[in-house]
Amino acid sequence: MAINITNCPCHCPGCHSKELAEDIGDILDEPSIDKLIAKNSEITCIGFMGGDSNPAEVVKLAKYVRKNYPDIKVGWYSGRNTFPLEHGVFHYIKLGPWIEEKGPLTSKTTNQVMYMNISEKDDNYMNPTFIDITEQAFRAPKPYDPDYFDYQERKRRNITRQDIKAMLDNKNEDN
Ligand code: SF4
Repeated sequence: MAINITNCPCHCPGCHSKELAEDIGDILDEPSIDKLIAKNSEITCIGFMGGDSNPAEVVKLAKYVRKNYPDIKVGWYSGRNTFPLEHGVFHYIKLGPWIEEKGPLTSKTTNQVMYMNISEKDDNYMNPTFIDITEQAFRAPKPYDPDYFDYQERKRRNITRQDIKAMLDNKNEDN
């Protein structure tokens, strides 16, 4: 489930969603997240799209989801180039503004980067370990292989996040 957050301060030239610069829409807080999840009971991941005017608030809401909905993954799409404090609360983070000539994440020339959290401890929010999965997830010449990233599959095969990192490194060498 993707949640667009308005009041975007980035003002990227050529922005695909100019309405997100406006301060419009409904308040996003813990009760509204509860309602959205109740209405969409099959979701596996919440993606906060934007929120760069107040990253601490996005982190706060992400913490709420992690605490109260441990089976739901949490991602953040930011137009900035830097991680917020406690970014380990997110399973996935996309960083980088929209730069038209560089293209989207599906473009080999994209400036944007998709990161996956591979910290061994799930509650290590301050000092997490992230790896760049942009190429595997979006630019790979072969179809994206979800087995490498799927939590249930990882549990079933009893492989660790370090094993995944090694697999990704090997994949990089192959390409
Ligand atoms: S960060 Fe996204 S929503 Fe904000 S201006 Fe850039 S492209 Fe538009």
